[in-house]
Amino acid sequence: MPAATRAVASPLRIDGLVKRYGAHTVVDQLSLSVAPGECFALLGPNGAGKTTTLRCALGLTTPDAGQITLCGEPVPARAREARMRVGVVPQFDNLDPDFTCTENLRVFGRYFGIDAATLRERTPALLEFAGLAHKADARIQDLSGGMKRRLTLARALVNRPELLLLDEPSTGLDPQARHLIWRRLKQLVADGTSVLLTTHFMDEAERLADRLAIMDNGRILATGSPREVIAAHIEPHVVEVYGDWPEGMAAWVCTHGEPLSVRCELSGDTAFCYVNDTTALLAHLAQQGALRYLHRPANLEDVFLKLTGRDLRD
Ligand code: ADP
Repeated sequence: MPAATRAVASPLRIDGLVKRYGAHTVVDQLSLSVAPGECFALLGPNGAGKTTTLRCALGLTTPDAGQITLCGEPVPARAREARMRVGVVPQFDNLDPDFTCTENLRVFGRYFGIDAATLRERTPALLEFAGLAHKADARIQDLSGGMKRRLTLARALVNRPELLLLDEPSTGLDPQARHLIWRRLKQLVADGTSVLLTTHFMDEAERLADRLAIMDNGRILATGSPREVIAAHIEPHVVEVYGDWPEGMAAWVCTHGEPLSVRCELSGDTAFCYVNDTTALLAHLAQQGALRYLHRPANLEDVFLKLTGRDLRD
């Protein structure tokens, strides 16, 4: 499903974006750019400002400050023209329930001024891409959640976009459906489509993104490739120590953390010990018969929790 043209300039560039609702600054001097043919993930907890950033990028929300260039067009001034070259997969499926899968694609295509013959030609390939060829004449209410999301993805490709924007593409999907969406997104990027997605699933970002930004409270806290972000923001090793006595764990962490050069975070019945060198810690743990522990490399979720905290959102 190749993009109509391979863009040579950045398909999306945001500089110093600010959006306020009343006294609440929900996007605060945010800058990012998506390179041609890359997948960029915007990560953040609920309320971080991801959707607002996407809406501003599309010209659907008017920013208070900042410059946005989408597919070479200034936004919001020429947002309509820019949107003609963009595909959008919103967080909540907004397919037309009165139409079949085929009809949904064709009606959507008409918004882009695509003629009927071209739409007739494109529709089977889009349904095939979404794994919905057998559902061409099915109504939306007869589709599973995963099928609806795949159809929304196919619909977003009807205009052969240079840039695909996806707001939490796999939220609410089961693992099988998520993996299929991921395969399709990888295929699109390999074919030259640029992708910007928001997510709060670290594995999604780690698997798909060439580069990512972690944001919270409207600001970018870290950016780079997944590897770069991990290397720059957290110790390379994590030892998770389990116990069913939180007070005891806290005492253990306090007593042993510092001498063993360990940075510890306590969460429930687990102490997360972050270390540059595991030798001393693992030797010490081996002598503690009552403790269970797991040694693993640090990952994006560790960075995310370090930068955005372990407190519940919502
Ligand atoms: P995310 O997508 O990262 O979950 P959002 O961009 O949806 O975050 O929201 C960021 C913050 O802006 C939240 O605190 C949200 O309540 C607030 N917000 C979003 N839209 C509006 C609006 N139309 N009016 C007032 N506040 C809003």
